[in-house]
Amino acid sequence: MWFRHDLRLEDNPAWSRATQADTVEPVVVVEDTLLDAAGPHRRTRYLDAVVDLQDTLRANGADLTILDGPAQIAIPRIAANADSIHVNEAVGPWGRRRDAEVSAAVAKPLTSEWGTLVAEPGTVLTGKGTLSRVFTAFWKVWVRTPPPPLPEAGSAEAVSGGAGIGSRAAELVEQHRRQRSTIASAHDRLASWLDHVDRYDDDRDRPAIDGTSQLSADLRLGTISPRRVLDVVGTSTPGRDGFVRQLAWRDWYAHLLLEMPHMLSSAIRPEYDAIEWLDDPEGLEAWKSGQTGYPIVDAGMRQLAQTGWMHNRVRMITASFLVKDLLIDWRLGERWFRSLLIDAEPSQNAGNWQWVAGTGTDAAPYFRIFNPVSQSRRFDPSGTYIRRWVPELSALADRDIHAPWETAPLDLASAGVILGDTYPAPLVDHASARARTLEAYARAVKPST
Ligand SMILES: Cc1cc2nc3c(=O)[nH]c(=O)nc-3n(C[C@H](O)[C@H](O)[C@H](O)COP(=O)(O)OP(=O)(O)OC[C@H]3O[C@@H](n4cnc5c(N)ncnc54)[C@H](O)[C@@H]3O)c2cc1C
Repeated sequence: MWFRHDLRLEDNPAWSRATQADTVEPVVVVEDTLLDAAGPHRRTRYLDAVVDLQDTLRANGADLTILDGPAQIAIPRIAANADSIHVNEAVGPWGRRRDAEVSAAVAKPLTSEWGTLVAEPGTVLTGKGTLSRVFTAFWKVWVRTPPPPLPEAGSAEAVSGGAGIGSRAAELVEQHRRQRSTIASAHDRLASWLDHVDRYDDDRDRPAIDGTSQLSADLRLGTISPRRVLDVVGTSTPGRDGFVRQLAWRDWYAHLLLEMPHMLSSAIRPEYDAIEWLDDPEGLEAWKSGQTGYPIVDAGMRQLAQTGWMHNRVRMITASFLVKDLLIDWRLGERWFRSLLIDAEPSQNAGNWQWVAGTGTDAAPYFRIFNPVSQSRRFDPSGTYIRRWVPELSALADRDIHAPWETAPLDLASAGVILGDTYPAPLVDHASARARTLEAYARAVKPST
């Protein structure tokens, strides 16, 4: 059993199938290239998840074989004589290509299940048998499609052939085990989320409070199954229903990526690839480092850099700012998010970036442009979130903190804020930036004849 983004034993269809045999060897392959590309927070979360899986196996009298990548070499070497190699299927093109290469090297297909999604790709289709390009239509079918029953593990004896002993990856995991601090498990997070989920509809857009589950990294690493989350939460209240709808978005973007692998690098609606993006390294750098002069944008970008996570509303605001205010290619923003997010997932990241950029399927129309100041006033009215991440503005009054450049000089001075010195002046004027973007998009969509 080769674990990837399904680092759990419970509700794991591939593990259930693998354990129907007499013996099974649980294996993880640590890919240096992926680990090196992950920001510090994702790296920690990944290694935590591997340690937890190893502990769970050890508690059951087994162990986890931890191998150095690349998987194309490691898996054929260890599984040359295995009857079958069990996996939960990958969604992204990189993983699918890797799996095809492994399968070719062992001269047999991998035995695969869909343990990372609620609904299996191909089971949520329109009346015409196609995958809907509109989320609401997908959701209506998704919510009526019963997922397959949660699988029970079999009774195979878990064995370890010692192949991982002395591998660099095994040493890295061991070192991480010694250094790590105790963390809550995915199941603890889900349990405490149940105290809040009924308020999801009211709280989900308020970045200053814990109004969302923060389960995204668990879902990404597979330390909990989306099926389990769905079953535990259910849809009995509007809050629960709204939350479960987000799990459907997650499935939808994964299903879309399987059909459109090119969506990671080009616009889903090809006419938008003609947009003339600005080459603005300084603007990009200011955005990345949370120094744009727009407090809500800077707060979000600093939360991302410092924690590896950002609230969804603020992801939308910061992404919109990069694309629509700075007119910088969404792919550069997608890459930055992908490097830092603990929940970075190509289908979700590119899907959401394209939604914000208006280049994707079922996206917000491009002429609907977020105003970062009104978004800030609406969703962080008391400036609590801004104060947490942009402390140099914390003495400003609630009404002023969203747009310091509109604040009276005396009020700025008494809050200790010097624009252009203690905090940047705004990088762009939103109204003119908006007009520039509308022109650029219009030119791309309706090229002059
Ligand atoms: C520009 C941008 C980039 C994003 N990149 C990623 C990414 O790389 N990985 C990722 O998992 N999510 C991504 N999201 C979606 C969303 O922001 C996160 O899933 C969410 O903030 C995670 O926090 P949570 O677990 O508390 O969410 P909750 O609100 O508690 O939602 C529960 C779960 O539903 C799923 N979900 C929620 N919102 C979305 C959404 N908009 N699209 C798809 N699934 C969703 C997630 O799995 C999430 O854990 C991105 C959104 C934007 C706007």
